[in-house]
Amino acid sequence: MKCVICKQAETKAGTATVTLERDAMTLVFKGVPARVCPNCGEEYLDEKTSALLLKLAEEAVRAGVLVDIRQYVAA
Ligand SMILES: [Zn+2]
Repeated sequence: MKCVICKQAETKAGTATVTLERDAMTLVFKGVPARVCPNCGEEYLDEKTSALLLKLAEEAVRAGVLVDIRQYVAA
């Protein structure tokens, strides 16, 4: 797909580092599969991946996590 931010390039399959913040918690996922724009670096996650990350973030909040850095593991 064409990047909607810069409209200059087609996105390519790659990986992203995603940071999620909820109140006092910061959760970082590395190696998340994403489409990445080679021109501006914008990262696009598919719906299934974003839903999983949000679910993991909710679980981390409940577990009392404040800061965590994880390698993404596909479900
Ligand atoms: Zn772009």
